[in-house]
Amino acid sequence: MVEASVSVQEFIDLVKEGEEVKPKRWQERANCLGLDPDLFFPERGASTRDAKSVCRGCDVRPECLEYALAQGEKHGIWGGLSERERRRVRRQRVIERRRLYTNS
Ligand code: SF4
Repeated sequence: MVEASVSVQEFIDLVKEGEEVKPKRWQERANCLGLDPDLFFPERGASTRDAKSVCRGCDVRPECLEYALAQGEKHGIWGGLSERERRRVRRQRVIERRRLYTNS
């Protein structure tokens, strides 16, 4: 299992080093492949604009976001969203699930 808070590039590097995780198609199509992972893990308070700009043109943004949500990634930009934005998505999904549950 890959630890949380690795960038897509680091994930691919781990796979290449023979880790147990097999590469998935979306990681291989990531716009951020080959870019500095630090770009996607800015210091607290630093701009996320450049990372988000890369993500905006990424074909696998939905897959990346779902991966981060499923893994509970607490740091970095994934799927074009910051930690705070991903927390908002999680909260919204909880609210929607509760609404669906109470209406059924
Ligand atoms: S959405 Fe952003 S972080 Fe995710 S794979 Fe694409 S470029 Fe990389």
